[in-house]
Amino acid sequence: MSLRQTIIRSGLETLYFSGAHVALRPLLGGVGAILTLHHVRPPRPDRFQPNHLLEVTPRFFERVIKSLRRSGIDIVSLDEMHRRLSEGDFARRLVCLTFDDGYRDTLQYAYPILKAAAAPFAIYVVSSFADRLGELWWLALEAVIANNNRIGLMIAGRNRTFDCTSVAEKRALFDELYWYVRSRPTDAETRAIVRDLAACYRVDMAALCEQHCMSWQELAELAADPLVTIGAHTVNHPMLAKVAEDTVRSEMNLSRSVIEAALSVKPQHLSYPVGDRSSAGAREFRIAADLGFKTAVTTRPGVLFREHRAHLTALPRISLNGEFQRLRYVRVLLSGSATAMWNGFRRAEAA
Ligand SMILES: [Zn+2]
Repeated sequence: MSLRQTIIRSGLETLYFSGAHVALRPLLGGVGAILTLHHVRPPRPDRFQPNHLLEVTPRFFERVIKSLRRSGIDIVSLDEMHRRLSEGDFARRLVCLTFDDGYRDTLQYAYPILKAAAAPFAIYVVSSFADRLGELWWLALEAVIANNNRIGLMIAGRNRTFDCTSVAEKRALFDELYWYVRSRPTDAETRAIVRDLAACYRVDMAALCEQHCMSWQELAELAADPLVTIGAHTVNHPMLAKVAEDTVRSEMNLSRSVIEAALSVKPQHLSYPVGDRSSAGAREFRIAADLGFKTAVTTRPGVLFREHRAHLTALPRISLNGEFQRLRYVRVLLSGSATAMWNGFRRAEAA
């Protein structure tokens, strides 16, 4: 486990076992929260799973849903959350369940659990993933490192070679390259690096889409259920803050049109790809509002406060993280106490 994970975990444990999360909830818990999920699927035996934080098991997911039901929190659709925030209807706490990217395991494993619980949820669809033209670059990078014992790469004009035979070396190299790639100043550069690596080490990006993401037909099956809200998550999944303004507009707008053409529902809600500070900021929040999205979500960690009524296209979320699959961590996160500390007690933020 990394040092960062150890620190987060011990913080969550302290807030839980001290009872502080219960004491602080009235103060910091806001009116509810939006949960972020990516993959819900059974555990795999592979020792090299660098994207593991993006997946939880069906068993854990089911326990979270049951626990939410037991604690009397309303699981609501994004439209209902929008209504409550807009009208100031905070009589009951709310939670929204949101799935990013449109992975097939949402249909296979999460959907039956949600259906049985009659729980509404949203899927933010990346239209190029359903079209099999998208670039799941974080999975491509994982595949390149998993399948090779040595990797060559041009970094800052220099040819570098990395050995990655052992699992420990693979983990360390993924960490290093992931953050190198993700922190490139433009999205085009991020993609070019991974595209070259994939071509060089014969990782088929289209096959990754096919393997992991729902087709339009599978999405249509979900879209037909009134429990399901189909949201937009752009065409190509770029880090929007790193592309030109007209591209931001077309990524948001075009994904909405393509989804509407394919599924006959016009998405009213948006999720910013990657969604952290380096990927979505004031400019993106303004454009999403301009384009008429009712709400838009980031991956900035936080619960919902009344103040978010004025920032409906800059909503924070709480991620169900594969490295922290304990109900007590979810309770602490929903209490708002952990995220309040991470955020220096700021509530709504729109910059
Ligand atoms: Zn995404």
